[in-house]
Amino acid sequence: MNGRAQPLVVVENLCKGFEDGEVLNNINLTIEEGDLVSIIGPSGCGKSTLLRCLNCLEIMDRGRLTVCGHTLERDGSEKGYGKDTLMKAHEIRKEVGMVFQSFTLFPHKTVLENVMLAPMVVKGEDRDVAEARAVELLKKVGLGDRMNRYPSTLSGGQTQRAAIARALAMNPRVMLYDEPTSALDPELVGEVLQVMRDLDAEGMTQIIVTHEMRFAKDASDYVVFMDRGEIVEIEDGEILFSSPKNERTREFLRHLV
Ligand code: ADP
Ligand code: MG
Repeated sequence: MNGRAQPLVVVENLCKGFEDGEVLNNINLTIEEGDLVSIIGPSGCGKSTLLRCLNCLEIMDRGRLTVCGHTLERDGSEKGYGKDTLMKAHEIRKEVGMVFQSFTLFPHKTVLENVMLAPMVVKGEDRDVAEARAVELLKKVGLGDRMNRYPSTLSGGQTQRAAIARALAMNPRVMLYDEPTSALDPELVGEVLQVMRDLDAEGMTQIIVTHEMRFAKDASDYVVFMDRGEIVEIEDGEILFSSPKNERTREFLRHLV
């Protein structure tokens, strides 16, 4: 983080509900270029929904979202999604890469083909260009010797690293991760988190929903604690875990093993 950086993501008064009621209530969050931000909070508090709103997999009901200078604004009056909303959502989505808890790679394609696919199909990149970039990215995530394997032959940690390479192949400005290590055996968690640390060192902007509290504390620029659809506390990890200000944060941390 430095003082001159432009905020890459600005969330203002974001609200989102489903049929059963409000899930995100007046979320405000500003993320600078190069930040690594961890989001923690109890199950069901809205972490995944917030990430999905950030890349417009879900479209917020009300509020304003700016990603890389593209602003989507909604006041709740629009019925369904109009053309402007969908166009803005599309612009924002292009800037954002996402990795899920268990992202299945295409099983009938090699790891290399998996990483090449979206740039070729979505961006119309030439095969040679897409392949060179895919090779570079797979080496970066430590899969240089697994490129021609099929996904079923990879470990969970290797699969998640390939999923990261695949997201990076679209040249996102922001990476979102929704519990990327929660489905992994404990001994495979570190190799995936290391990829995020490496990307952080290169200046990538990253937002991760995680239960890895040590990573949240040590690797993040700051930690966002959410509860019941609200951001309760945003704080430096060292401070949040040692002396949380809010009673709800204290309550959550007390129940961690
Ligand atoms: P978290 O990721 O923190 O566990 P979620 O964002 O997945 O929380 O969910 C927050 C709340 O929103 C939950 O009550 C969940 O049931 C509800 N929810 C999430 N997605 C949908 C959906 N597509 N339709 C209806 N309710 C949803
Ligand atoms: Mg979730």
